[in-house]
Amino acid sequence: MADQLLESSWCEISLPKIAQNLTNALARLPQGTRFCAVVKANAYGHGIENVVPLLIEQGVSYIGISSNSEARAARDAGFAGSILRLRTATPQEVKHAVQDRVEELVGTVDGVRSLIETLGQGALPRLHISLNAGGMSRDGLELSTAGGREACKKILDLAGERVIGLCTHFPSNEPKELADSIARFQDDLSWIFANSCLRREDVLVHGGSTLTLASGQDPQTDMMRCGAILYGIAGSRPDFQSTLTLKSRVISVGVYPKGSTIGYDRTSCLRHDRVLASIALGYANGYCRQLSGRCAVLIRGRCLPVLGKISMNTIVADVTDLPGVVIGDEVVAFGRQGGQAISTQAIEQLTGRIIADLFTDWGQRNPRVICQR
Ligand SMILES: *Cc1c(COP(=O)(O)O)cnc(C)c1O
Repeated sequence: MADQLLESSWCEISLPKIAQNLTNALARLPQGTRFCAVVKANAYGHGIENVVPLLIEQGVSYIGISSNSEARAARDAGFAGSILRLRTATPQEVKHAVQDRVEELVGTVDGVRSLIETLGQGALPRLHISLNAGGMSRDGLELSTAGGREACKKILDLAGERVIGLCTHFPSNEPKELADSIARFQDDLSWIFANSCLRREDVLVHGGSTLTLASGQDPQTDMMRCGAILYGIAGSRPDFQSTLTLKSRVISVGVYPKGSTIGYDRTSCLRHDRVLASIALGYANGYCRQLSGRCAVLIRGRCLPVLGKISMNTIVADVTDLPGVVIGDEVVAFGRQGGQAISTQAIEQLTGRIIADLFTDWGQRNPRVICQR
C-alpha cells in the first residue's frame, strides 16, 4: 500500500491497534462507568474519519471534540451518538455547531448570557457545567468562593433546564492529588444538589481521563473521558500499543570523504569516509530540530544515526554499516521496523516533548495511510 505512495513522508495509522486499545480501555473502566472517546486534535493526529468507525463498532456512544470541524467530521463518519465539546466556545462557534448537536461546556455567567443572546433561550444546546474542582482553572466554575456559588445558582437560573452534565478535569493523576481532586469534586457536586433543583439522577457526572483510568483509582463518575489511551499513550503500560508510525524514504545514497561536514552550520564532521543516505523528512514534517545530532532512524531493520542538523525537508543518516541501502528504501523515524523500534520513551527524551504533542503534529503535517496490521 505505502509502496505506491508518492509522498515525502507519511504517518501509518494502525486501525487494529486502535481497536485493541479501545477494547482494553473499556475493560479497565470501573463497573457501570461510561466511556467518552476523545477525538480532539483530529483524533490526536490519526484522523477522525479513521477512528470513529472503530468507536461505533465497539458501541461507544459519547465522543469528545474541540472544534466544529471535528464535530462535522464525526457526523460525516456516521457517528449518531452524543458529541461533547471539551472546552468552552465562542457563541458563534456554538451557534454553528447546533446542527451537529454538539453539547457544550459552560463555566461562567457571562458565557451563558452570551449564548442566550446569540442563540435565544429556546435554541440553547445541551449544556454541561464545568467545575474547577480539579484545579485546572481554565474554564471551570470555582465553587470554593461565595462569588462562585452565586454564579452557579445564576447559571442554573438562566439555563438550568438545558443542563444535562456536571464535570471536571483532573490536572494531576498522582495518587494523593487525584484522591484529593476526586473528594473535592464530590463535595462540589453535593453542594450543587443541595442548593439547586438539579437532581443527581438527571445529570451525567463526568471526570477522569487516560491517566486516571491507568491509575486504577475510581473517580466515582458516570463517565470518564479518555483520548490518549486509544492511541497507545498511557504511560508505559504494555497492554496499550502505539498506533502511529512516522515513515519516509531514502532519496539519495552517496560516499563522502573523511573531513566532510554535514548540514547547516557544519555541526557534524566525518572522521572517516562514510556512506550517507539522504531521507525525505525534515522539520516541515514535524521531525523537529531538537532531534538534530541526537537521533536515529530504522532502515532494513537496522538502527542508524542521523547526522547534522535537521533541515526543512531532509535528514542525513550514516548507512556505512548497512551495505545495500538503495534509493526508495523505507525509513522509520518513529515506530517499529523488523525487531527494532524508535520508542515513545526515546523520542520524548530526545525532543523534550510528549508523544501526544508529536502525534498531533506529525498526524497533521503528513498524509495519513491506513494500516490493517
Ligand atoms: C483532552 C481531554 C481529555 C482526554 O485526555 P487524555 O489524557 O488524552 O485521556 C479529557 N477531558 C478533557 C476536558 C480534555 O481536554
